[in-house]
Amino acid sequence: MRICVLVKQVPATDKVKMDEKTGTMIRTEMEAELNPLDMYAVEEAVRVKERLGGNARITVISMGPLMAVDAVKDAISMGCDEGYLLSDKLLAGSDTWATAYALSGAIRYLGGFDLIFCGERATDGETGQVGPSVASWLNIPALTYVSKIERLEERYIRVRRAVEGGYEVVETELPVLLSVVKEINEPRLPNLAGKLRAKEMQIPVLTVDDLNLNRSFVGLEGSPTRVVKIFYPKLSRNGKIISGKNPEEAVDELISFLESKGIL
Ligand SMILES: Cc1cc2nc3c(=O)[nH]c(=O)nc-3n(C[C@H](O)[C@H](O)[C@H](O)COP(=O)(O)OP(=O)(O)OC[C@H]3O[C@@H](n4cnc5c(N)ncnc54)[C@H](O)[C@@H]3O)c2cc1C
Repeated sequence: MRICVLVKQVPATDKVKMDEKTGTMIRTEMEAELNPLDMYAVEEAVRVKERLGGNARITVISMGPLMAVDAVKDAISMGCDEGYLLSDKLLAGSDTWATAYALSGAIRYLGGFDLIFCGERATDGETGQVGPSVASWLNIPALTYVSKIERLEERYIRVRRAVEGGYEVVETELPVLLSVVKEINEPRLPNLAGKLRAKEMQIPVLTVDDLNLNRSFVGLEGSPTRVVKIFYPKLSRNGKIISGKNPEEAVDELISFLESKGIL
């Protein structure tokens, strides 16, 4: 079985800076990490491989700047077999539509997969659109919010999907794309052997021309999303912060503050 995991590198901080002109995130010199929710996708892929024995191979794909190779290596250290980085200046400024187009091009280029795993959402963009859009570009089914794989056969899968107030069971044929939720497993910590293997592994970098992508479908120009305006919210009220007090003192101070404003 050919398994693929899509992983994204995200900022390892909530102090993200935005370029107000282009409406895009300033990604240079920022600390980055493997999207925490993608670790569940990686873990599930590795568990499927372990269940199938030697009959499975896991390929990790990420699209991003060259430093995103670290996210690919993090996934390899957890048990994936090989990885590719899709990186090209022409891809800069891609929105979710263009990102999904490029990732689906990489998947096609690598010969296609039976199972494609991705995270529920990336902790920076948070749209949750990329997985289902990749499936749409590949014309295969997408099963989202998967919390359990109940049954997996060569050409068939049945899963549980987390839905509001419960779960539903759905089945389909392979190939399929699955986006997984946290409840599906507990990601493992990479062991020393895994880290060493990842460190030594060469990660090929794929470009737009390697994949024969349509240049007008990628990058800022190829992205249908327009960020019309981006701004930091302005505080319209003056708040009062009470700190360094025990709860009783803090409550007394709050009461006298509210009394001074005529609220109490
Ligand atoms: C106008 C515009 C310009 C942008 N320019 C840039 C840019 O220059 N550089 C940039 O990095 N982002 C850019 N973005 C953001 C970028 O489009 C999104 O970060 C990206 O498409 C993923 O969307 P998301 O973060 O909502 O992921 P989600 O849809 O929330 O991610 C769901 C899952 O899809 C997979 N996935 C998502 N993204 C990737 C990826 N890149 N590689 C592999 N797997 C992935 C992961 O498994 C992830 O858990 C831009 C967005 C807009 C609107």
